[in-house]
Amino acid sequence: MPITVRADLAAIPDYVPGRKIPGAIVLSSNEAATPPPDAVLAAINEAAAEVNRYPLWSSDDLLARLEKHLDVDAARICIGAGSVSLCQQLIQTMCGPGDEVVFPWRSFEAYPILTQIVGARERRVPLTADHRQDLDALLAAITAATRLVFVCVPNNPTGTVLHAADLERFLDAVPDHVLVVLDEAYREFVRDPRVPDGLRMVAARDNLVLLRTFSKAYGLAGARAGYGIAPPQVAAGMRKVAIPFSVSRLAQAAALASLDVADELLARCEVVVAERGRVRDELLTMGYEVPESQGNFVWLALRERTTAFNEHCLDQKVLVRGFAGDGARVTIGLAEENDVFLQAARTFSG
Ligand code: PMP
Repeated sequence: MPITVRADLAAIPDYVPGRKIPGAIVLSSNEAATPPPDAVLAAINEAAAEVNRYPLWSSDDLLARLEKHLDVDAARICIGAGSVSLCQQLIQTMCGPGDEVVFPWRSFEAYPILTQIVGARERRVPLTADHRQDLDALLAAITAATRLVFVCVPNNPTGTVLHAADLERFLDAVPDHVLVVLDEAYREFVRDPRVPDGLRMVAARDNLVLLRTFSKAYGLAGARAGYGIAPPQVAAGMRKVAIPFSVSRLAQAAALASLDVADELLARCEVVVAERGRVRDELLTMGYEVPESQGNFVWLALRERTTAFNEHCLDQKVLVRGFAGDGARVTIGLAEENDVFLQAARTFSG
């Protein structure tokens, strides 16, 4: 008999990474536009010299550092190979076949994939007409089978946010058997004071998990490190299902060193925030529909024109992230990169 893989895998979408084409400006993966500071690169090099040795099993040094940095008990922290790994660990910890995961849609495209891989059922809750997550509809989608609800603030790919008071009301209203996940991959780019600080919120809640990453503001997307803050029994479960040693020696060293230069890295976010405002203003002037974004990217609600826009930008050697029929997400790059993108947007006639 021929060897076959799980029959249901064929129906699960592949994760589609942002494209990389030599010579093109890459605005398709929400990465930092500049390499890490020298001190971080030096720490990675130092760790590389010992790469014949396994990394620390539970990222102990980074864990101790985060415990202090975040003022959170280590029993509630789980370190993972990027926050996408933490999403997977969380779903594996909480869900089996038949359980339900509720999330807004469109949102981070790993949510449905990771849900389906464990055999759980997904419930996608459409965004509002103005591209926001609909907390009432998320609440209404919860059933007795629901184990997890994701909210993403700012939302990838729309950049839209939730306000603290609304999220508090939502957390008060969700049934006791449901754990809410606040994905704050882009928190450091938020400037709207009405947006919750997940760190403060998670300290006061036992039905909330916070996910953060070193990939975006800390510029370590290629190293793979992130952390979750969860109720202790959930964090313990997440550690149990982790792939052993998946947070590499280089990732741990890079994350530790980047915390030493956090001020410098957070100052870089200011530049992104200023460029984000400039790019959006120019796009609005050109007549595009662009919701206000609090991430390191903007969303162009292009609907059926998305694929043509994507191709047009590609012709101009700019890679953006188009979601056919829906819109295009464009990462904020260096000012000169953004200028090339804006020129492409200006000359699009589709
Ligand atoms: N959450 C959101 C909302 C994201 O956009 C991303 C990356 N695109 C991730 C999590 C995962 O990032 P990483 O695994 O690099 O930490």
